[in-house]
Amino acid sequence: MKSLWRDEEAKKCSDDLALRVYTSRLLGRDKSLVLHGGGNTSVKIEETNIFGEPETVLYVKGSGWDLETIEAPGFSPVRLDHVLKLAKLPVLSDPQMVNELTTHMLRASAPAPSIETILHGCLPYRFVDHTHADAVLAISNTANGEQRIREVYGNRCVVIPYLMPGFELARYCAEAFSREKTADTIGMVLLNHGIFSFGANARESYERMIDLVTLAEDYLQSRGALVSEEPSTAVPRVAAPAQALLRKRLSSLVGAPMLMRTVTNARTLAFAAHPDCAGYSQRGPITPDHIIRTKRIPMLGSDVDSYASAYREYFAINEPGAHDRKAILDQAPRVVLDPALGMTTLGRSAKDALVVAELYEHSMDVIRCAEALGGYRPLGQAELFEVEYWDLEQAKLKKSGKPPVFLGEVALVTGAASGIGKAAVESLLARGAAVLGLDVNPSVQNLHQRADYLGLTCDLTDPAKVRASIELAILQFGGLDMAVLNAGVFGESRRIADMGDAEWRRVMAVNLDANLAMLRLIHPFLKLAPRGGRVAVIGSKNVPAPGPGAAAYSASKAALNQLVRVAALEWGAEGIRINSLHPNAVFDTGLWTDEVLAQRAANYGMSVEQYKTRNVMKVEISSHDVAELAAELCGPLFAKTTAAQIPVDGGDDRVI
Ligand code: ZN
Repeated sequence: MKSLWRDEEAKKCSDDLALRVYTSRLLGRDKSLVLHGGGNTSVKIEETNIFGEPETVLYVKGSGWDLETIEAPGFSPVRLDHVLKLAKLPVLSDPQMVNELTTHMLRASAPAPSIETILHGCLPYRFVDHTHADAVLAISNTANGEQRIREVYGNRCVVIPYLMPGFELARYCAEAFSREKTADTIGMVLLNHGIFSFGANARESYERMIDLVTLAEDYLQSRGALVSEEPSTAVPRVAAPAQALLRKRLSSLVGAPMLMRTVTNARTLAFAAHPDCAGYSQRGPITPDHIIRTKRIPMLGSDVDSYASAYREYFAINEPGAHDRKAILDQAPRVVLDPALGMTTLGRSAKDALVVAELYEHSMDVIRCAEALGGYRPLGQAELFEVEYWDLEQAKLKKSGKPPVFLGEVALVTGAASGIGKAAVESLLARGAAVLGLDVNPSVQNLHQRADYLGLTCDLTDPAKVRASIELAILQFGGLDMAVLNAGVFGESRRIADMGDAEWRRVMAVNLDANLAMLRLIHPFLKLAPRGGRVAVIGSKNVPAPGPGAAAYSASKAALNQLVRVAALEWGAEGIRINSLHPNAVFDTGLWTDEVLAQRAANYGMSVEQYKTRNVMKVEISSHDVAELAAELCGPLFAKTTAAQIPVDGGDDRVI
């Protein structure tokens, strides 16, 4: 493990808090050190308070911040003298401790200080760094883990037995540290939990962490136990419809739509296919704050029935009487290991499934290192407690009252890079859906940087590309519940007498043929949507009221409209609803270049301004207006509506 410290970067830091941010981010960049809140840092700074008195402030990582992206406001400023007084109390309950820390901060808007704040305060060094390094956990999680850790570190580290994070642990560490530290001590190992380093300045503390973790890695290496597969992607040997079927079964067991993330790579396949996996994957998490229950079920081919019934058995065996949804959600295995798939993780949100996937991929390295070292021996079930992010996620849901209407569901949007499509992505994300956005314009890939958005460049007239895109989304989210079919082209404005075959076919290929191909492709997935499939098709006012000079566009949209009506007839019994929207005069879309706008206006003998507002309500129609209605059409308000054609045009006198 190499130090990432760069003098030129460090020079840009004006004070110790800025340096604290800098080296915290260096730690955060290495996922084998810290992952999703699994680590924290602090710095003690002398300041002058509002009365002109000197006081030392402990800046400690606040909850809700990740070390990789932390900024100065992510550190909670707590009065150090109060922290040290608390550490001397004989008893202090964790709620009391949280209350004392929160009420002794210097900034009311600061995040809640880390549960390990008192521990940071008690270590008598300016900078303190704490990680849950994979290599340290691998050595610690073995039968004679404590002995091995002492062998690795000698006098360099004070070694603390496992205690749950909180006041007891902080007090124990403070006492043990002052009793056992020597002139050589540069760190402290918390067995089955992680490691601390400290120093007089940011660089010393950070580089001691690197040195200490390197010692652990060298120890593993010297015993042939440093296992780490290159996480190159591999093709899963399970068909996408089988994945969607599994998601439907699991969602119905849980009683709510769930997202499934499948990670098939060299690491997950090697872990799940190993002959001892059934044993070591069930022994428990690598550190008690990862309460990620795992289930290893060989799902060969599309044998989803045995898979789902294994889940049913799991609940029956482990949680008799746990019929209530929350209990099932909490108790459900979050990680599924399968020799054909590698790993699949479950979550109510995409973020949830992603966090579990990333945590467990690291667990795989730790478990296989510990196995190679003689046997993985984690702590028993009694020490387990809920992982912090899960509590946070739950708290977020509770705070906002009802969960978002599409939480746990997946939506596809075509033509997602601009206009109505781009707005539809936003409307669906706002309602809690995970969204796959497709567009020929590569900017679709960077529309949103979040776990619940996947943007893929895709020409909808290329069936192989479209299929590959949908399958990628199924791997990432588990299924497909909704589609907003929006992509379309207007074509050149031309009278029928001048219409060439090539132009006609180009418009038909995008507006009609590509939508037929898409409907055919997504039908098996929509059929498996836990709440039933929904499709909103962006039609056009041209369907009921065509315009001169737009033969190809009008004919293609009319044919698409008829296709939607037939789909409603064929798919209604399968619980799939499909409805059309007929927008008109939506000018903030990719379709309406200035040139097209001028041509259309000329066809009606109007100025561009007159053309833009020609509806009976005299209102402008935006992409957002259309997108919101498309999202609502997929929601419970329209639960019993299919084959509807709804105008979004401010009232058009030719349609009325
Ligand atoms: Zn920790």
